[in-house]
This record gives sequence, structure tokens and C-alpha cells, in this order.
Amino acid sequence: MSAHYDIAVIGGGAAGLAAAVAAARTGRATLLLDKNPAPGGTGGFSGLTTLCGLYDDGGNHLNDGFAHEFAGAITEAPPLKMGRVWVLPYRPEKFRAAAQKFISATPRLTTAWNSPLADVIVADHRIISLNGFKIGAVIDCSGTAEVARAVGVECLETDDSTQAPAVVFPLSHVTRELLTPADAAQILLPLARAGFPPVNFQSNLDPGSLTAKFSGAPEQVPALLEFLRANVPGFENCHSLVTRFSATRRAGRMIIGQHVLTGAEVLAARTFPDAVARCAWPVEQWNVAGKASLRYLPPGANYEIPARSLRAVKVKNLFMAGKTLSADVDAIASARVMGCCLATGAAAGKLAANFLDSASPA
Ligand SMILES: Cc1cc2nc3c(=O)[nH]c(=O)nc-3n(C[C@H](O)[C@H](O)[C@H](O)COP(=O)(O)OP(=O)(O)OC[C@H]3O[C@@H](n4cnc5c(N)ncnc54)[C@H](O)[C@@H]3O)c2cc1C
Repeated sequence: MSAHYDIAVIGGGAAGLAAAVAAARTGRATLLLDKNPAPGGTGGFSGLTTLCGLYDDGGNHLNDGFAHEFAGAITEAPPLKMGRVWVLPYRPEKFRAAAQKFISATPRLTTAWNSPLADVIVADHRIISLNGFKIGAVIDCSGTAEVARAVGVECLETDDSTQAPAVVFPLSHVTRELLTPADAAQILLPLARAGFPPVNFQSNLDPGSLTAKFSGAPEQVPALLEFLRANVPGFENCHSLVTRFSATRRAGRMIIGQHVLTGAEVLAARTFPDAVARCAWPVEQWNVAGKASLRYLPPGANYEIPARSLRAVKVKNLFMAGKTLSADVDAIASARVMGCCLATGAAAGKLAANFLDSASPA
């Protein structure tokens, strides 16, 4: 007889980690499965160093529970205000270590790394088995709706025209401050004149180091570094410890659930009677030329995410969170940030457990 888990979570990024820990903390036997060798997902492995979506305009936490707890576990410095929004600077290695620590501290949680989603069996509108394990409920946190695709549930997609990829890498030995937009403009202008696609530089926790988000191709990074060293004061000795560059994809796939959260609802700061998470991040889109467009909520406002946006239609025991939650192309451009992924993940874990508590025996 194959092993049985109450809840299976696919994807060990911010959303999947939160979902798995929250589900297992209810006492349900939970399996967290990822094709990667370790937990962390985009937040732990792509070079990102700012956790967005945790705070309101005043720098206060929007969500209690796991999002707050995880932020506490990786905090080394206070949140930073960047323009109109607050972000938490972090180190990717600390993100990965904290993820592992939460997993180890959760007794009912089992992990399966290097385990791509293989076969999913549905009977009577329920997933009954996944990768050979008997399953009570499933949470798709794959970022690309892998479970939904496997069982034929309809999805929406973002693409590179509004969610362009970027090459993210650290740049050390920079002796120049980048505190204001004017500071940044002095660097970006010569780069643009030289024909490079846009680069976004952010300070990180290491003194003299920046995190670069480059909208060009990975092969262009060495030329970009050479140009910076030769032409931009303060960057003469800059270098990156990373030697193999790759692009990280912003685009993903959203499962159509019982409520599709829309960009209009986000910007109108909509509330819901079945709200399970809150977010205030602007609708942040990146066009193919690597230019960002930010549409903000009214000052001081936040929007809510309803439980129905974490529940699939047709397949009764399928839930989703993070980049795969039920949202349109504009709404996900806000809700995809990691603070929101942590909050929706934790909510999906509890919803899946509640579903099993109330579900009649199959
Ligand atoms: C260039 C770029 C810059 C960004 N900047 C920021 C930022 O500064 N701050 C911020 O908060 N957010 C930022 N984001 C957004 C944010 O990082 C992601 O949207 C968020 O991390 C998504 O989390 P997730 O848990 O939903 O998915 P992911 O972190 O993508 O995790 C999905 C997991 O599912 C696994 N998986 C996928 N398919 C399968 C399969 N078939 N079988 C098994 N496992 C599978 C993957 O291996 C992965 O571990 C950025 C994103 C990009 C691309």
C-alpha cells in the first residue's frame, strides 16, 4: 500500500513553505515536494535581497502569523522605505537557512526534494493520488500551476510583455551611495547611452555591495560590468562573486479559482467577507524593454485576498497560493511579491486542513 499524506504542497518557495508549515501545524500529515534540492524557491535562490509586500504605508506588518514569523527569522536590519513602499532587506542564504529551520521544527512535515511533479490521479472531482502517494488535499505553490495543468484545471498566464525576466546578481566593491533617484540617474544615463538595457540597483545588507536587476540577456552581464568599471565613478573596482548568470522569470500561471482577484479590486483596496490575507504592494509591471510601471493603491490603503481565490473550481480538494493564486494579470503583478506569497501560503495551508476537517469521507 502506498504512503498516505493528508496534504501535499507542491513548491518549496515562500508560498509553499508557508503552506506546508501552516498545514502541518494543524496536526495534518503534510508532504512538501519540490524539484529543487532544497527549500527557498525564487526568494532563496535567485539572488533577490528585498522582501516586499510585508508592510503597509506606515511600515506596519499587514499580516500576522507565518509571514510575520518568517520575516522575524530573517531580519538583520530594520525595514527600509524605498519611495512609497517599505521592504525588508535580507540575505538569500539566511532565507534558505530559515526555511530549513522552520521545516525541521515542524514534526508533521515530511519533505521530498529533487522530486518533480510526476503523476496526479483524479477521481470524482478530487485528487486522490500524487507522485504515488495517497493524498487528502493538494496545494499548488509551483508558481506555474503545475498541478492544475496536470489535472486540466483552467489557468490564466502572465508573459514577458508585462512581467519581463531579469538577471539578478550581487555587485561588490562599489564605493558610491545610491540613496536618491538622482544618484541612480547619474549611473543609468551613461548605461542607456551606451545601449545597455535598464538596470535596477538596490542597496543590500553587505556594505559596499548592491543587488543588480538587469533587464538584458545573461550574456551581456560581463560587458555591463566592464562598462561600469571603465566609465562610472565609484564602480572602478566593482565585481560580482557570481560567474554564471541566468535570467529569473517573473511571469507565471494563475489557477482560475472560485474568485478571480482583479487589478481593479487591488487598486480600489477591495475588502471581502472571506478575507484571509492583506496586501498593499502596487501593481508592478515590467515591459519587454525592462521599464517598470507602478500603479499604487490610495495612500494608507490595502486590499484583501478572499479564501475563494485560494480554492480551485471543479477539483474540490485543490488549493493554491503565491504566484499561482486566482488573480488576473494586473492583480498578480501586486500579489506575487514574497510577503504576500507567505501570507497566502499560510492561509492556503489552514484552508486545506479545514477542508479535510469538514469534508465528508470520500
Ligand atoms: C526578477 C525578479 C525580481 C523580483 N523581485 C522581487 C523583490 O525584490 N521582492 C519580492 O518580494 N519579490 C520579488 N519578485 C517576486 C517573487 O520573488 C516571486 O513572485 C515569489 O518568490 C514567488 O513565490 P512562490 O512561492 O509563489 O513561487 P517560487 O518561489 O517560484 O517557488 C515555486 C517552487 O515550485 C517548484 N516547482 C515548480 N515546478 C515544479 C514541479 N513541476 N515539480 C516540483 N516542484 C516544482 C520550484 O522549484 C520552486 O521552488 C521578483 C521576481 C523576479 C523574477
